[in-house]
Amino acid sequence: MPASKNSVQLLPNDAYDDTPGDIERALIESDLGMVAPNSKLLNDIAKPVPPDEIDSQHVKQLIGRLHDAAAGQRRDSRKRKKRRTLVGLAAPQIGVSLRIVLIDTKVDANRKKYGKPECFINPEIVWRSRETEEGREGCFSTGQIWGLVRRPIAVKVKALDEQGKPFERIMEGFTARIAQHEIDHLNGIRFPDRISSDKKRHWVHAEELDDYPKRIKHWERLCSRVRWEEVKATPTQ
Ligand code: ZN
Repeated sequence: MPASKNSVQLLPNDAYDDTPGDIERALIESDLGMVAPNSKLLNDIAKPVPPDEIDSQHVKQLIGRLHDAAAGQRRDSRKRKKRRTLVGLAAPQIGVSLRIVLIDTKVDANRKKYGKPECFINPEIVWRSRETEEGREGCFSTGQIWGLVRRPIAVKVKALDEQGKPFERIMEGFTARIAQHEIDHLNGIRFPDRISSDKKRHWVHAEELDDYPKRIKHWERLCSRVRWEEVKATPTQ
């Protein structure tokens, strides 16, 4: 058994398997400061940031930590090069129950081009398109669960920026999906909660992630709602 296995024991076993890739992913999540998938914070409604505290040291530090985690470098064992991994991140994922998210509003769906993530404080979706589409989602707070989630294809989000100035963004396609996924985190909702069919909630090993998009429609290892509820269930002390 590899030595690193011991540190993985800190993470809930329910959310991860122990293939080398799965262990590595769990360690990366923990290195980036992510709370475990069964953390109560992830099921809670986060508190708004009082506008007069946006300039405070603790909010600035938190935003700094979010940017650092989003820019987290990881070792890609196949290509042996480093690359950015996060296109969105919500404060509860790193253990703070405040309404702050980062969204990469420039990323393209193939992840060939990344932008600098933008900070949205107290974000609110003020408009959603009627048209919806299904798209693939995963999360650093759901262990090995991936899936197909139906969401509006465009949204308008209102928020405050890092200086406390109000702004609005209309987002479409992949970035609209990221925005909805991240703002859901502020309301204690994760993407598997949004999937009604067990056939569309999938259990995927890290080693299978390259192949997964091609086989997604016929993925055989499913994650039932019951299994998902087990993964997210906060342990009773
Ligand atoms: Zn997420």
